[in-house]
Amino acid sequence: MRCASLIDTHLRLGLPGDCAFCLGRPVPGESWCEACLEALPWNRLACANCAEPLPGTVSEQPSRCGRCMVTPLSFRHAHVPLRYEDDMTRLIQQFKFFASPRAGHLLLRLFQHSLPPAFERQITTQRPQALISVPLHPTRARERGFDQAHWLAKRLGHRLGLPCLTAKRLRETPSQRGLKRQARLENLKHAFTIKAPLPPCVALVDDVMTTGATFEALAAACHEAGAEEVHVWALARTPMG
Ligand SMILES: [Zn+2]
Ligand SMILES: [Zn+2]
Repeated sequence: MRCASLIDTHLRLGLPGDCAFCLGRPVPGESWCEACLEALPWNRLACANCAEPLPGTVSEQPSRCGRCMVTPLSFRHAHVPLRYEDDMTRLIQQFKFFASPRAGHLLLRLFQHSLPPAFERQITTQRPQALISVPLHPTRARERGFDQAHWLAKRLGHRLGLPCLTAKRLRETPSQRGLKRQARLENLKHAFTIKAPLPPCVALVDDVMTTGATFEALAAACHEAGAEEVHVWALARTPMG
């Protein structure tokens, strides 16, 4: 594990031409070197539904975790390429709490790098037609003054040629884990609202995915607004305790 403050210092002192993690020579056109990119906590073994990191190897990886086998979440697929630990925690905190544009652009680029090549060439059927950022609770937005999910979705949409639509949060959504499917759906009803009609396939965007409950509430609102398929895009997944 790296020294905790190293990434902060490097983000502050590094020039655009340096690897943002070690200040070494980067891969041409990128903000990282091969070694630092590989050393990041990639979430390669993950549940396809809730993105929870799974034990085991790639070859024996089940497509869904036990929890999602029993009670699937209402969105179709979660693409969460990294785990919220080590350098990713520092990087996301720099972005979220200190609004560091360098950290934000590095995170965006890492996310884009994680998308399948077919996605960039627009030849995959899993390509959403619009992005929707997870709305921050109004009191938190006032306290912090920076809406990181909207920042990400807007720029990602621009880079990928996708419109960025907005949803409205009507109330806070507590963790829904442990509740039976029906109780969970009841609890989450009308937590968000979105102006209809939505295109058939949309992706929800946030920086960190914790349990998936918030995404599930927003996905329900998307379905109500006409979306047939909802995907989840987040930078990093908090491993379950
Ligand atoms: Zn490096
Ligand atoms: Zn799962």
